[in-house]
Amino acid sequence: ITDEYLKPYAIFKSDMKDTYVDEMEICSEFEEGIEKQEFQVFYQPVVDAKTGKIVSAEALVRWFHEQKGFISPGQFIPALEKGGYISELDRYMIEKVTGCLDQRRAEKKRFVPVSVNLSWMDFYDENMLEWIVRGLKKNNQNEQKIRFEITETSLAAIGENHTRMLMHLKENGAEILLDDFGNGYSSFGMLQDYDFDILKMDISFVRNIGVNKKSESILRAIIDMAHKLGIRLVAEGAETEEQAAFLRANGCDYIQGYYYYKPMPEAEFLQLLEEGK
Ligand code: C2E
Ligand code: CA
Ligand code: CA
Ligand code: CA
Repeated sequence: ITDEYLKPYAIFKSDMKDTYVDEMEICSEFEEGIEKQEFQVFYQPVVDAKTGKIVSAEALVRWFHEQKGFISPGQFIPALEKGGYISELDRYMIEKVTGCLDQRRAEKKRFVPVSVNLSWMDFYDENMLEWIVRGLKKNNQNEQKIRFEITETSLAAIGENHTRMLMHLKENGAEILLDDFGNGYSSFGMLQDYDFDILKMDISFVRNIGVNKKSESILRAIIDMAHKLGIRLVAEGAETEEQAAFLRANGCDYIQGYYYYKPMPEAEFLQLLEEGK
C-alpha cells in the first residue's frame, strides 16, 4: 500500500479517473481482495441540519486494489451483484462496523449509529439474515447502533417474504432506512406497507435546489409528508451552502453531503467524534 492510499482524498480529485475493470475480473479478484484487506470501510458523517453536529454515519465500501488502484463502488457493486458475491461483501462490512461499534461501547466512548447498505441479494441469503439477527440479539435492543439501508428499487425487486425479513431486523432493534427515496416507481407504496424509521431523499432532489422550482416543491412536500408519518428525513448529497440553507429552512432533519463531510477512513471519523464534532 502506497502513501496515496493513506490519503484517500487525493484519489477523489476530479482529474483522477477510477480504474476501469471488467465484471469478470472484478468477480475473479474479489476473494483475494478480501483476503488482502483491500476493502475498507469509509464513514460519511450525517449532521443535524440545525446544529451541524454529527448524529450518525453511513458506511461506504472502498476498494483499493493493490495493482489496479482505486475502483469505485458504482462499478464493482453491480458486478458483484451479478456474480453473486455481494452478500459476502456486505457481511464483511457489517462485521467491520459491528467490531468498531462494539469496541467503542466497551471503551465507553462516544458513538453514533452507523448504517450499512444491504443489497436485494442479501434477502435471498437466509444464513446471512440469521447471522445478522444473532448479532443484534447480543446487544440490548435500546442501544442498537447499527442500521440498515435499502433502496426502494431493491425492495421492489424482492418479494413480500423478504421484506418481512427486513421487519424482522427491526423487531430486533435495528433501525431501517429507505434509501434513494423518490427515485423509483413505488415510493408511496413502500411507505404504506412498511414502517421505516428514516427516509433518505434521493440525491436528485437536492441537486435541483436553486435550479428547478418543481423539485423544490416536491422536496418540501416530502419533508412535510415524512413528518406527518412520524419518519425522520435525511437529505443526501448537499454540496453547497445554498442547498444546506434550503434544507435547514424547510425543516429537513439531517443532512449528508460533501458540504459537511466526505466519506473518510475510520480513524478520521473517530477523531471527529472525539473532538465533539
Ligand atoms: P448510496 O447508498 O446512495 O450512497 C451514497 C453515495 O453518494 C455514496 O457514493 C457517497 O459517497 C455519495 N455522496 C455522498 N455525499 C455526496 C455529495 O455531496 N455529492 C456527491 N456527488 N456524492 C455524494 P459511493 O460511496 O460511491 O457509493 C455508491 C453506491 O454504492 C451507494 O449509493 C450504494 O448503493 C453502493 N454501496 C456503497 N457501499 C456499499 C456496501 O457496502 N454494500 C452495498 N450493497 N452497496 C454499497
Ligand atoms: Ca445508502
Ligand atoms: Ca442514497
Ligand atoms: Ca444510490
